[in-house]
Amino acid sequence: MNKNNIDIIIVGGGLGGLLSSVLLSEISGLQVVLLEAGNDYEDRRLLKADTRHTLEGIGGAGTLGGGKLCGRPSSSKLWSKTCRSLGQYADFLSFLDLPHSAIETLKNRNYSQLHLGRLQHKQYGSYLLNEGQMMQFVLNMRERAILAGVDLKPNSRVDEIKRNNTNYEVLVNNDWISAKKVIFATGRSGSLSLKKLLGDFPIRFNEQSPDLGIRITTPKYSTDAFIENGDDVKYKLNTKHHSVRTFCVCTGGSVTPVSFENSTYFDGHFGSTLTDSVNLGVMSREAGLVGTNAALQYCQLLSKNGLPQIPLSDLHAYINLLKKRSNMTPFNAVFDSLIYFVDELHNRGALKLNNSDSKVFFPAIDRYWPRVTTDEYFESSCSGLYVIGDAAGIARGFLQAMWSGWCASASIMQQIKGIQMQKNAAFHHNKENFAIAP
Ligand SMILES: Cc1cc2nc3c(=O)[nH]c(=O)nc-3n(C[C@H](O)[C@H](O)[C@H](O)COP(=O)(O)OP(=O)(O)OC[C@H]3O[C@@H](n4cnc5c(N)ncnc54)[C@H](O)[C@@H]3O)c2cc1C
Repeated sequence: MNKNNIDIIIVGGGLGGLLSSVLLSEISGLQVVLLEAGNDYEDRRLLKADTRHTLEGIGGAGTLGGGKLCGRPSSSKLWSKTCRSLGQYADFLSFLDLPHSAIETLKNRNYSQLHLGRLQHKQYGSYLLNEGQMMQFVLNMRERAILAGVDLKPNSRVDEIKRNNTNYEVLVNNDWISAKKVIFATGRSGSLSLKKLLGDFPIRFNEQSPDLGIRITTPKYSTDAFIENGDDVKYKLNTKHHSVRTFCVCTGGSVTPVSFENSTYFDGHFGSTLTDSVNLGVMSREAGLVGTNAALQYCQLLSKNGLPQIPLSDLHAYINLLKKRSNMTPFNAVFDSLIYFVDELHNRGALKLNNSDSKVFFPAIDRYWPRVTTDEYFESSCSGLYVIGDAAGIARGFLQAMWSGWCASASIMQQIKGIQMQKNAAFHHNKENFAIAP
């Protein structure tokens, strides 16, 4: 690495960081260094049984299995923040090494919404990559980055950052390297350390209420609602007393343990083939519980106090037992809303509770990382310092992380090289095209 010649440092080699590195180096020839704390992709796959590798390493979180690419508007906040034209979105999709059918599916704004009593049922267009396809997708992107001249450095954790006149300097493996621009793409695994790393900079971190809940695996015959393989189906419920806001559903797939600061939580995952089971994340957000530490406490207490897995038919009894434990009191409202929500699903025929083949996994968490204040190009209040992907607290999916990287990189290329990322005039339109479903 020629340390005097770096234009951009990218911290984090997940999909957001990788995509940014490819875009910046392939199109503008800028000198990019990508620093990744974890292993290279092949090494991660060899160590797959160790759940620490689920979140860290080249390819980033969740890419050791398959995954669902969720198109617009599954994160309406992200799309309305960026407000790029449809032309840029189409160019972005075409830039990814995806099958034509995937691009067409993701380009179309498939969305439907139904009200079932108190429940809101939402269905978004999405595209499923199985484990082999995801592996190929990551390897292709890695290969493109290297061919374009990106200095890709696994096992390189950034421990410190400081500003030196117009440059930023980062400390990695006892060496300082500097560049005018730094993109942080440190994902959810870096959420605790990012706040410390950027502690001396005037950057605002807004803690969010995390999603706290459970994962349910259930055979397809036990649910009428989630049988469309690959579709992104969500239920939502808001009442005066219960704030079960999201119900993220993976049709097909199995449950995956993920390491989180000396404890474990469960997430969904797709293997090489679609399974006959449906994997559901049932999550609740309570306004009184805030920040990564609330999520951490929920995980640690449940790991210490409870069973990781129970039959779904025992859910009521088990939650009543948990509620009697004094250290669980802060989470009683979460438990109440989960039970209420699961019962509503049962009443609506969306989920049969008395099924001996259905299992509940404790705990499940999501969106536990803070939101960083950035502009529409993901540039923070410190000029030249960007935060993208899950680390920015607004994206929480593969496609969204890459899109935020695209937006940041397009802006950087325009600033440094005057390159305008607006090739696809046929799709070019104005902000109205990005009107978002509620
Ligand atoms: C099991 C599982 C299944 C999932 N399934 C889906 C799905 O089906 N569909 C979907 O859209 N999303 C899914 N997700 C979410 C998805 O993984 C993330 O939204 C996405 O990977 C975020 O990408 P990112 O680039 O922002 O961050 P990440 O992929 O988290 O990458 C961040 C990288 O930064 C590195 N890093 C952190 N700190 C430092 C540091 N200080 N120095 C250097 N490197 C650092 C980390 O090691 C990591 O590799 C899943 C997640 C999990 C865990």
